[in-house]
Amino acid sequence: MGVKLFGSDEPHHVLCRITLADTFSEDAAMPAEPVATPLSTAATAWLQLPGGWFLNNAGWITGNDRTLLIDTCATEARSRHLLEAAQAAGSTGTPITAALTHAHGDHAHGAGLVAAAGGSVLASATAAAEIVTGPHTYPEVFTCSTWGNIPPPDHIESVTEVTHLNLGGRTAEIHPVPTHAHTNGDLVVFLPREKVLFTGDLLFSGVTPLALQGSITGWLAALDWLATFEVATFVPGHGPLDTTGGAFAAVRGYLQWLLEAVNDTDQPDFPALEERARAVWPDWHDAERHAVNLRVAHAEARQQPLDLTATLGAMLRTTGGPIPLEV
Ligand SMILES: [Zn+2]
Repeated sequence: MGVKLFGSDEPHHVLCRITLADTFSEDAAMPAEPVATPLSTAATAWLQLPGGWFLNNAGWITGNDRTLLIDTCATEARSRHLLEAAQAAGSTGTPITAALTHAHGDHAHGAGLVAAAGGSVLASATAAAEIVTGPHTYPEVFTCSTWGNIPPPDHIESVTEVTHLNLGGRTAEIHPVPTHAHTNGDLVVFLPREKVLFTGDLLFSGVTPLALQGSITGWLAALDWLATFEVATFVPGHGPLDTTGGAFAAVRGYLQWLLEAVNDTDQPDFPALEERARAVWPDWHDAERHAVNLRVAHAEARQQPLDLTATLGAMLRTTGGPIPLEV
C-alpha cells in the first residue's frame, strides 16, 4: 500500500516507495494510511484520516534552500514516514526546519527525529518548554504499544513574533496565536500567495475539538483573529481539509455552545449536556471529549481551576477505561 495522492499531476513516485508497511509488521493493521495531498507546487498536506486521538495532520512547504515541515506525528514510525516523504519532496540534501503548531505529542513526538536528521525545530516558547521535557504519552489515559523511540530534541527555537521564513524562492509566515486557545502556546503557518493556512489544532474537521489544556473564550478570540487571514484552504490539525470554511464555522459554533451550555448553573447536568452534544454533532469522532470540554468551559466561566482528575475520570467513564490507540 503506497501513499495515496490526489489533486496533482506532478510525479510523486518517490513518495510511493515509502509506506507504513515498511515499518509495521505485515499482519499489523494500518489505520489512517497517510495521504499526501498537494495544495500548490510547494505546499503539501499530510492527512491521517479520519483524524482523532493521535492521528493528526501535518505537511510541508518546499523552497529552493529549505523545506519547512509543519508538525510531526505521534509515533516514531509515522514521523519517520512523514520526514522521509518531506525529504523526498525537496531537492536532495535540502535542510529541514520543523515548525510545531503546539506541544501535543501527536504533533510533536517526531521533533527529535528532525533534530537527529540535522534539522532545526521551532515552536512557541511555552510549547518548546513542554516538548523538551517529554515525551508525554499519558499512560493513565491511553494504551499504546507503537510509540517507538520518541525522545524530544535537546533544543527548540522559540518563535515569539510573526516570523517570515525565506525558504528560497518562497516565504512562509509563522504566526504565534495571540491568545490562550487550543493550548497556551499555539502557532499557525501561512502561505499568503497560495492562501494556505496550517492551523494546528485551532481547527478540527469532523473530529470533536479538545480543550483540555485550552481556553474556550481565548480559542474563540483566536478564531476571530484567524478570520483576518485571507484563506482558500485550511489544513486543520485533525480531519479533512476545509476549503469552504465549514470546519471553521463548526468549531466556532461548538465553542460558543459550550459557553452557553454551562452559563446558567453552578452545577450543570454534565451527562445530559454530553448527550446533547452527541446529538447535535453526531458525526464527530471522539465524542468522549465533550465530557472534558464542558468541564473546561464550566471551570473557566466560574474562574475556577480545572479539576483535572475528575475531568479525565468523567471522560474515561464514557469510554469504559483507558483509550486504546491504534496508531
Ligand atoms: Zn492538540
